[in-house]
Amino acid sequence: MASTEIVEYTVMSKISQLTLLTTNRCTAACGHCSMHSSPQRRGKLSLSMITKAIEQLMLGDNQPKVVVFAGGEPTLLRNDLFDAIAWCHEKGIKTRIVTNASWATTRHKANEMIDTLRECGLSEVNYSLDDYHARDINYQNVFNAWQASKNRGFESVVIANCYGTRSTITSDFIQQQLNEVIPVYWDEHGVPQHTMSRAADGTWYLLSNARLQRLGRGQALAEEEIIYPDKQSSLNLKCPWAVTSAAMSPGGHLLACCGIHAHGNEFLDFGDIHTHDAAELFAQGEQRLVIQAIRKFGPWFLMKLVENIATQKLFKPRYASVCEICEDVVNIAESRRILREHLPEIYPLYENI
Ligand code: SF4
Ligand code: SF4
Repeated sequence: MASTEIVEYTVMSKISQLTLLTTNRCTAACGHCSMHSSPQRRGKLSLSMITKAIEQLMLGDNQPKVVVFAGGEPTLLRNDLFDAIAWCHEKGIKTRIVTNASWATTRHKANEMIDTLRECGLSEVNYSLDDYHARDINYQNVFNAWQASKNRGFESVVIANCYGTRSTITSDFIQQQLNEVIPVYWDEHGVPQHTMSRAADGTWYLLSNARLQRLGRGQALAEEEIIYPDKQSSLNLKCPWAVTSAAMSPGGHLLACCGIHAHGNEFLDFGDIHTHDAAELFAQGEQRLVIQAIRKFGPWFLMKLVENIATQKLFKPRYASVCEICEDVVNIAESRRILREHLPEIYPLYENI
């Protein structure tokens, strides 16, 4: 057993949401893409791999409540996507797609795709739109898709917008262009709004506005583009998503989360579903000490632990999000070495706090 694992098993967590990173191929190559997706990449999950993994998790008494089809651009899977959504629907699992709407070049094409997705039983749709997407995809596509999604019986229809200091495609811009007032999820202080309600047709229509993060390819974004929290210590938060919001990579690996590109990461990649049972990978992965520390204390705790031992400066002077900290903590080679070698001695000192 590796030194980052502990012997005693605790109560198993449940996966509330499983994100399938269906492909790393995309119709865009956004500068902020956390998953490094692009038109040149070709990795993808097959229908049989998707259903096998979910069945194994279900047999392990861990049926996800929601399966999210993301990517890359999930609609590039075509029939495998439609069949996987229909398969989940038959099993009583709610489904969502996260798409850039590159397929909605006309209102007619948008209607056709929405017809197909609804026939398959898709419950929720999430459209990505911001300045970085708009460099490759006409933002009018998202508006075609948005209009086509109205009154179609979805549980929720969301436009996910992320913004930085230089953004022009903001929540206000989107509402002006659509000539609609759409409930906006976060206020200017980053507090979620709880006063929203379903529209008369029973659907939640929302604008999910999040601050830009330097993750994945976005690590190369200029620091001036990022909006940072007033106090860095506000990022000292535990992560509720590790394990409960697990993911599968286009290469068929089970991952702790979909927050960062985790395929191949020594802590967040739980292993290959081609050769191992998904439920067993999950049960073993959630016992890893780094995962437990992220869940109980958060990436900030690990960063400070590493800083106390490191003989050189490893981390950025400031971060915009908890996942940004996490990406550096679990990827920087010296940080990984320190966690591997020292966390097993240090963690028990904090475990019962
Ligand atoms: S951010 Fe979304 S649309 Fe842009 S390259 Fe990545 S997966 Fe594709
Ligand atoms: S903090 Fe880390 S484990 Fe949690 S969602 Fe972000 S990247 Fe994943």
